[in-house]
Amino acid sequence: MDQGHDTPAPIDDETLRAYLADDLPAEDLARVEKALRDSSELRGQLESVRQNREDASLYTLGAIWRRTRLTCPSRQQLGSLLLDILEPDLADYLIFHIEVVECPFCQANLADLKGKTEAATPAIQSRHARFLNSSRHLLPGEGRA
Ligand SMILES: [Zn+2]
Repeated sequence: MDQGHDTPAPIDDETLRAYLADDLPAEDLARVEKALRDSSELRGQLESVRQNREDASLYTLGAIWRRTRLTCPSRQQLGSLLLDILEPDLADYLIFHIEVVECPFCQANLADLKGKTEAATPAIQSRHARFLNSSRHLLPGEGRA
């Protein structure tokens, strides 16, 4: 009898499926990972669970990307952000998503759009820049401090 006071649930196929789906609570995750390190039998079981999944494609890298990208803005929204025509709340969220969360997908998308936007709409860009520059000296206190 060396099972201790708190017999852990056995690591069955269901647990391994949850592990593959990245859907385990932290304490189970640690337990499963330790067991996987210790047991080649369990690693074999994990592999067969993975191969026997009908929806094995759910666990491809692409699928994981799609799941974690659920909160990503659309490309159109990113474009609007670049043109500075987005509602402030949404713009704040996008900036948070890109600069704080550092979503690599959106960063890449934004960089790509930026290249296209600057190439395609120099008029809008420079008009915007002129507006910023010309209105700057109109602000009270600016340049007098
Ligand atoms: Zn994103």
